[in-house]
Amino acid sequence: MKGSPIWHPFTQHGLGEPIPLVTHAEGAALYTEDGRRIVDAISSWWVTTHGHRNPRIMAAIAEQAGKLDQIIFAGWTHEPAETLARCLIEMMPAALSRVFFSDSGSTSVEVALKMALGFWANRGEPRHRVLVMQHSYHGDTIGAMSVGARGVFNRAYAPLLFDVGTLPFPAAGREQDTLDELEAACHARPAALIVEPLILGAGGMLIYPAQVLAEMRAICARHGVLFIADEVMTGWGRTGTLLACEQAGIVPDILCLSKGLTGGAVPLAVTLASEAIYQAHWSQDRATMFFHSSSYTANPIACAAANANLAIWREEPVLERIGDLAKRQQARLAEIAALPAVLNARQIGTITAIEIVDGKGDYLSSMGPRLLAFFRDRDLLLRPLGNTVYVMPPYCIDDGDLDLIYAAIGEACELGAV
Ligand code: PLP
Repeated sequence: MKGSPIWHPFTQHGLGEPIPLVTHAEGAALYTEDGRRIVDAISSWWVTTHGHRNPRIMAAIAEQAGKLDQIIFAGWTHEPAETLARCLIEMMPAALSRVFFSDSGSTSVEVALKMALGFWANRGEPRHRVLVMQHSYHGDTIGAMSVGARGVFNRAYAPLLFDVGTLPFPAAGREQDTLDELEAACHARPAALIVEPLILGAGGMLIYPAQVLAEMRAICARHGVLFIADEVMTGWGRTGTLLACEQAGIVPDILCLSKGLTGGAVPLAVTLASEAIYQAHWSQDRATMFFHSSSYTANPIACAAANANLAIWREEPVLERIGDLAKRQQARLAEIAALPAVLNARQIGTITAIEIVDGKGDYLSSMGPRLLAFFRDRDLLLRPLGNTVYVMPPYCIDDGDLDLIYAAIGEACELGAV
């Protein structure tokens, strides 16, 4: 065997693309072993909110590592998890009163789906159909893939994926179709609807209006269909508010959070549930308990990191920082939007996206890898989704680094997408 034995995620090793070795990181920058400073324009897959190695989060991890590393969480508890659960309940919408821990966005979605089906099964009304939105992405485990868009990513596993009801994406001018189809689908008494609120991430950074989200929530409530908000990407300020759901004035029955939960430092996820969902599992009968766990559920070090993140949100002007970053990006996006090769320039909060014309638009179109290499050569971590180039930086990024990002995107557009 030549080279590293590591099998990287979403990587075709046969193409022989270089895999830089990162030695350290700080703020919005990554540093490689060959001495390069790379601007992290996508927050290392959307996780890093306050910047890499935020001092408060690093200190909390170090302190916790000196006390308690890991314990079983079935039937045992610890202070970092208790504090985190209490603080989350204070910070999140009041109707969400229960916290279930897991370790990634995908597992938070698996938990949400199991909670929804468990709710109905324990009430003696075993509903199991799940409604989803076209182009959604909810993770790469079997259940999460089942409720996400089908395509080249999961074709090989299609026989294992369960059937779902798919609503059309509420594209501009077609919003009513989505709502009508949801209304019709609700008559068949599905268990739940799962959505990415306001923006579909991996599906192409597709933004839809808060009003549609609010109406979808209302339709589900009218029909008694559980509403699951997957805020794994949108949570922790990405769309300009702590949760994207806030902009629609809605509260889901189940909420999935991960990525920025620890500020992006270490893996952790939570699925928050309404009291009704918890109570449907509560009894003296062991058969109705929530049958889910993983070895590292509520790891104390990860919980300590999350507690530090929550303290940052409570004590620092995070929303102001986000608002300021949004404005600074808006000005730069406006310049790019005027270029002839650019379509659909759009923004929500700290996320901006464009399409570069001439691409086929699917993930495997050759423009994606060419753009990736183009940006890598300019010391930028940008990872286009086909011909969709998006920017989602850590909130601490400065003007100089933003200029580098947008100048390179402008250059790519002017070169006719390289
Ligand atoms: N849900 C959404 C909306 C996501 O964007 C992602 C990841 O990008 C996931 C779930 C899966 O999260 P993870 O990669 O941590 O499993």
